[in-house]
Amino acid sequence: MNLQELSAIVAAEFQKSYGRPPRWIVAAPGRVNVIGEHTDYNDGFVLPMAIEHYAVMAADRSSGGKNIFQIRDTNAGVGPVLVDLSAPVQPGEPKWGNYPRGVIAGCLARGMNPGGLDVLLHSTVPIGGGLSSSAALEVSTATLIETVTGKTMDPVEKALLCQKAEHDFAGMPCGIMDQFISVMGRQDHLLLLDCRSRQTELVPMSDASVSLLIVNTNVKHELTGGGYARRRQQCETAAKNLGVPSLRDATPEMLERAQGRMDEVVFRRARHVIGEIERTVHAAEGVRASNWPSVGQLMYASHDSLRDDYDVSCTELDAVVEIAEGIGSKGGVYGCRMTGGGFGGCAVALVKTEMVEAISRQIAAGYKEKTRIEATIFVSRPAAGATVIQA
Ligand code: ADP
Ligand code: MG
Repeated sequence: MNLQELSAIVAAEFQKSYGRPPRWIVAAPGRVNVIGEHTDYNDGFVLPMAIEHYAVMAADRSSGGKNIFQIRDTNAGVGPVLVDLSAPVQPGEPKWGNYPRGVIAGCLARGMNPGGLDVLLHSTVPIGGGLSSSAALEVSTATLIETVTGKTMDPVEKALLCQKAEHDFAGMPCGIMDQFISVMGRQDHLLLLDCRSRQTELVPMSDASVSLLIVNTNVKHELTGGGYARRRQQCETAAKNLGVPSLRDATPEMLERAQGRMDEVVFRRARHVIGEIERTVHAAEGVRASNWPSVGQLMYASHDSLRDDYDVSCTELDAVVEIAEGIGSKGGVYGCRMTGGGFGGCAVALVKTEMVEAISRQIAAGYKEKTRIEATIFVSRPAAGATVIQA
């Protein structure tokens, strides 16, 4: 479904819920990270893509002139959010309202007061599925407030405001990737993001003969013993050992020379990060040149490194990548890797667009056979970032 069709559905839902048509409609996408995993907190690069799944908000001025920012959700499982704009905005119930509350608070602090609104939210980003429904919700809220107030923010400022909302109101100390891509994504482009300088570069991917296939393993293994925090610490230890501020500043040669005086696990963690930063930059070059075999090989290499050196894969993710590799380039698969933090969640594959259906069928069947679990699979081309559909 394209964005125009989706917004027509949301407009109809708004009418049904509030008894009148909406005045404004905005949307912000979820994302998938094509390559560059566990590089963000090492000052490295990531290469995300906005997906054709969006948090859409339709809105009108509050009926009766109330100074309340009200959000109803088409997701029947969650209650409405009511934010009284006359009082200081604070976290509260329902919990999902903390993402928009944090954004509203940030906008108010910048003198962007939308006034009372009746809002209807409809999101096609799977919630809690690792495709960043949270950033889509935040960026959609910020875009709505920009549209209503007629004041726009610089894209970096907007993304950082949304990230701060997630930190301070939702209690989630996330990096900058999700909000940056949801704000700055562009149709037919990936976004190369330097997590150190926060500089971004749109990387054209206009060749419609390839698409990204997203395979949700539908498993999430509990991380025992603080697996994520420990890895961050191991990266810091490695950087200290190498005498650099962060692993971004280390080269494979430096690491090689230090191997003898480094703990074996710390060495492997560093080898992943240093290699992955390089792979991400090379993959961006490959995308620019439409060199899909090269990008695909980098994705496989990324997966191997995450599995063997960083130890963040799991049998289900490995199964998807093995099946994809088995289909191979003759079957239309260029590359595949786990995406996101690991231990479950999604894999992403670079595939020939015209062979998507056959590939999806084979992965679904192979995955079911190996794990007895149903995967959720969908395809996306690089989508646009935050969009004003009706102003
Ligand atoms: P992800 O961002 O990968 O989907 P997170 O755990 O970061 O997973 O964010 C999921 C949370 O975001 C949900 O628990 C919910 O609080 C909130 N959320 C996102 N989209 C919606 C929505 N459409 N309706 C209600 N809550 C939502
Ligand atoms: Mg999230």
